[in-house]
Amino acid sequence: MRKLSLAILLTLVTTLALQGRSWAYPIKNAPILTRNALYASGPLGPASCPEPPVEAGDVASVKNYLVPLVKCLDTVWAAQFKKARLPFVKPAVKFITKPQRACGRKWGENIQAIYCNPTRQIVFLLDKSIVNDPGDLFLMDVIAHEYGHHVQNLAGMWKAYDGLPGRGKNEYLEQTRRHELQAECLAGAFIGAVWPSLDRTAEDWNDLVAADRRSGDEIADVRDHGKGRNIANWLSRGYKATAPSACNTWIAGAAMVA
Ligand SMILES: [Zn+2]
Repeated sequence: MRKLSLAILLTLVTTLALQGRSWAYPIKNAPILTRNALYASGPLGPASCPEPPVEAGDVASVKNYLVPLVKCLDTVWAAQFKKARLPFVKPAVKFITKPQRACGRKWGENIQAIYCNPTRQIVFLLDKSIVNDPGDLFLMDVIAHEYGHHVQNLAGMWKAYDGLPGRGKNEYLEQTRRHELQAECLAGAFIGAVWPSLDRTAEDWNDLVAADRRSGDEIADVRDHGKGRNIANWLSRGYKATAPSACNTWIAGAAMVA
């Protein structure tokens, strides 16, 4: 995840306040993002991905929970890419227990997992905060979100996003939010597709949506992931549709990607 300095952000906020209006940057000339074959590939799954039991405080147990989940993500997305007639390869997945350099960068603060697009690798930090509290759907959401970035990478969307022209920090940040919110929507689509095979309640789902709502840019220095309500909204859209068709953040209005 790229970060911007607070000074730049403050300048941006001041400029917007002076203009007295919100901004909108339509995505133009990027059909890979706005009309990707993945959107027309229909619903994911259905697939059976029962969750193994997981024990709090035990790294090995958390790994044992995540490994079959990654296999399930492989199966579900491989089938989807076939439907979309796009080539598919599995990502590599690495678990670490302490922050370390990954993807050529220092591990960022408050980062649980990253996806490295050149090496197609997910690196998941199994630190105390997550290992001591593994019972909710947050683990599944994190791995499915990073897998969403892998999907964007394979579908050519990561490269297209990287190559978008940006006329300043605010436009760049809005593009980054579209990219991040799409990964969260793809996570929701996966969770929705496998939901019938999970031994979960509506309350578990509502807890995850609430956690997303608390994880927005409101609590961060940088406006690069979206407001909490928007992160929750894109997760829910994916979940309800169980399909990538719900995840076209590139044509969404500015308020939905704020
Ligand atoms: Zn992300």
